[in-house]
Amino acid sequence: MSDKNIKNEKMEAIVSLAKRRGFIYQGSEVYGGLSGTWDYGPLGVTLKRNIMNLWWKMFVDDREDMYGVDAAILMNQNVWKASGHVDTFTDPLVEDLETKQRFRADHLLKDAGYDVDGLSLEAMTKLIQDNTIKSPNGNELSEVRTFNMMFKTTVGPVDDESSISYLRPETAQGIFTNYKNILDSYYPDLPFGLAQQGKAFRNEISPRDFIFRSREFEQMEIEYFIDPSTWEAEFEKWIGLVHEWTNALGLPVESVHELEVGEADRAHYSKRTVDFEFDFPIGREELLGLAYRTDFDLMNIQNAAGKNMEYTVKGTNTKFVPHVIEPSFGVERAIMAVLSTAYTEDEVNGEKRIYLKLPEHLAPIKYAVSPLLKNKEELVVKAREVYDALKKKHGNVVWDDNGNIGKRYRRQDEIGTPYCVVIDFDSLEDNTVTVRERDSTEQRRVSIEELCQ
Ligand code: ATP
Repeated sequence: MSDKNIKNEKMEAIVSLAKRRGFIYQGSEVYGGLSGTWDYGPLGVTLKRNIMNLWWKMFVDDREDMYGVDAAILMNQNVWKASGHVDTFTDPLVEDLETKQRFRADHLLKDAGYDVDGLSLEAMTKLIQDNTIKSPNGNELSEVRTFNMMFKTTVGPVDDESSISYLRPETAQGIFTNYKNILDSYYPDLPFGLAQQGKAFRNEISPRDFIFRSREFEQMEIEYFIDPSTWEAEFEKWIGLVHEWTNALGLPVESVHELEVGEADRAHYSKRTVDFEFDFPIGREELLGLAYRTDFDLMNIQNAAGKNMEYTVKGTNTKFVPHVIEPSFGVERAIMAVLSTAYTEDEVNGEKRIYLKLPEHLAPIKYAVSPLLKNKEELVVKAREVYDALKKKHGNVVWDDNGNIGKRYRRQDEIGTPYCVVIDFDSLEDNTVTVRERDSTEQRRVSIEELCQ
């Protein structure tokens, strides 16, 4: 079996587990689905929140120089004109001339083994024609053209040019538009950052690879405002912080790679961009990006909105428009990296076992509590006491008395629960319980008092 097939098999196993156990479902599935959309079930939503809350704690709550914002998804159309999105937020598109199905030209070329970085539309068309590259259906392809990825909509009852708006394709612009508000309310010292988490929407030409490339997804972004003379040192600090983040997610150091984006592939306003890639089961792909965006966005606002974006250094007359370093994190890609790192198959007592080796602080459920036998009233009563105490303390605790103990362990292993607590007849005598550990499958006796304190 080829390496690619083995990797795809792992991906399929994760997708199937995610669906079967209530992490992630296809969006609108009962109606046949809506491509590029995903719904989160009880375990998925908790995993997602754990990741987002960890990020918020690390980058907002634990720091003195960060301000959280939560901007509206719908924004004035001038935001997207000034930022360049209306004109340039595009991907290269080709059409299958027979079926009219549309594909990302750069992806087709990449899949065929060509380096497409920095290629113009004309150059891509030429590569396709010179090498008679066909669509995945085996048909001829059209010329390459651009396709704007923003979802267009109208706001209000009148449908005309002035009512056009877009579902935001990134959260960043909602930060830039609030920069002045935060300056006026807080007057922070430079450097300082604004952080936001929230939905972003991109009409991806071909959504694929589970949640990796979705049409509706979630971002966690920071605009870190700096004095331009300090950009190199600040950028280095952010590289370090990104690694701290991937460590906190429990991702193996050797699977996270820095890709220095060359000048030809960087946005024209960016002086340095580093993409952080991860070895996903589908291959090495972008997990998140870090870019030095200069003063591009604030100057765009200053010019288009006619509002002064300058920062005055406290106690001086020195004024300038701050520059910005932007770490941009995708939640879905973080989830996919965490799930694929956690997914493990091993053998216990001669039987195949599938388990999620999730870090304890990310696991949707921390403890599963059960009585050894569910028809023994005294065991159930005692187990309920332990369950109530743990639930009160941790919240993410479940009651599980279905099937035999072995089955319960397997079920909890599969969703990454680090600890199973079993109340047996000894518990009634000595107030101890068995705590079984997911990864090692080892069991130890622990006093109820110690467990619940
Ligand atoms: P790609 O090259 O993979 O399309 P990008 O460079 O366009 O990504 P950015 O615009 O830098 O992505 O967005 C920042 C982050 O948002 C990405 O690193 C990724 O984590 C996430 N992201 C972007 N597009 C998607 C998508 N369609 N689905 C899920 N996450 C996404």
